[in-house]
Amino acid sequence: MNNNITCVDTVKSYLQQIESNKHLNAFIEVFEQDALQLAVSLDAERLSGKKLGKLHGVIVSIKDVICYKGHQVSAASKILENYTAVYNATLVEKLLQEGAIIIGRNNCDEFAMGSSSENSFYGIIKNGIDVTRVPGGSSGGSAVAVQMNMSMISLGSDTGGSVRQPADFCGIVGLKPTYGRISRYGLIAYASSFDQIGIFAQSIDDASLALEVIAGADDFDSTASQQEVPSYSTQLSSDKKYKFAYFKQAIEHAGLDKEMAAAIKKYFEVLTQNGHTVEAVEFDLLDETIPTYYVLTTAEASSNLARFDGVKYGYRATGNFDSLQAMYKQTRSEGFGKEVQRRIMLGAYVLSEGYFDAYFTKAQQVRQLLSNTTKKVFEQYDAILSPTVPTTAFKIGEKSNDSVAMYLADLYTVFSNLVGIPAVCISKFKHSNGMPFGLQIMGKHYQETEMLSMAKTIESTN
Ligand code: GLN
Repeated sequence: MNNNITCVDTVKSYLQQIESNKHLNAFIEVFEQDALQLAVSLDAERLSGKKLGKLHGVIVSIKDVICYKGHQVSAASKILENYTAVYNATLVEKLLQEGAIIIGRNNCDEFAMGSSSENSFYGIIKNGIDVTRVPGGSSGGSAVAVQMNMSMISLGSDTGGSVRQPADFCGIVGLKPTYGRISRYGLIAYASSFDQIGIFAQSIDDASLALEVIAGADDFDSTASQQEVPSYSTQLSSDKKYKFAYFKQAIEHAGLDKEMAAAIKKYFEVLTQNGHTVEAVEFDLLDETIPTYYVLTTAEASSNLARFDGVKYGYRATGNFDSLQAMYKQTRSEGFGKEVQRRIMLGAYVLSEGYFDAYFTKAQQVRQLLSNTTKKVFEQYDAILSPTVPTTAFKIGEKSNDSVAMYLADLYTVFSNLVGIPAVCISKFKHSNGMPFGLQIMGKHYQETEMLSMAKTIESTN
């Protein structure tokens, strides 16, 4: 490391990088002054000889669903336009304590609903490798920020793949830890039994370090696990031989790009040649995962988003309303975008009397079946390997008018959110269309150390 490089220099160079990639629309707001100020105090800290934080001078960006006190946060929605966070998310507190510099908030799909970053009130986000393509979603801006060196680490949320899918489309690492590993306090909720903070990074080492800083128990989030946080960054091993499973139905799925399927199968042979075991297991429920996910998450979203009513905070429609109902209706019709409205309606429908058992209860039952399957697989295998997305990054506009086609982009990612296991994707391959794609590793509950060790092994096995 060059000891002459200061935090101020670093911030300036990242600000420049953000400026020159403005056309990608990855940031809703850049916290230029704050970041520079923080850099000045961090530089002073270093000169004073104080013990430095684990993330001293690391440039971090956050998805616009994470609260940073005194800064705006909008979930990329008109309904929260000009809303200022009144407290720090727990993960933000932890980042700051370890000397990270938060450089700005990243654009994303409104309320984290989407797979392409085309649903933001602040406009679409473009993929830095090919600007005619989407970066994936919903944390598209966070992915592009790391892809184009506008931040070193970025934090997103992963409810059904929103970190892993854009990471795959952008050619970087995307990590979704076990449900409950990182506190959700200060994360704007989408579907609370699925939501988990996720990490974008250039390498498994970087992601591991960030995880160890932000994971852990939290009095403000009862779903955050009490389990001790290992020192991931120092505990990763890379010389073990693993027993991997893959779902036959996943690799043979008609929706999976043929070239991608071939590359992944070939890579399984490489792993075998390197002493690992890779075996196919049956997974009849694969096609059930997307409907199950969309029934449960829309139900949870319809309840979570009920609070945005124009009364206490956020956008309120103007006009003379003759009832409170009329004000709510107008506010929510103007404040929420199309996809968010669609999901609120879908969620209210599956929860409504007469349909509840047919949809919501049924989906809960499938969720239980999926957990049982997972348990069985993990009795015999260390991890499950899978593609991350069935295709590489698609063209802007290609799927925006076809919700079902868009939802299918989540085919391989929703499973781990349904059952709560950790998953990480690493970029390994390049498609003949020029776009990157990789491999997803799904590990056992709270065994991030093992899963990240496997990821490191895969990172270096070619
Ligand atoms: N694409 C999925 C959805 O739209 C995942 C979103 C997410 O993980 N936040 O629900």
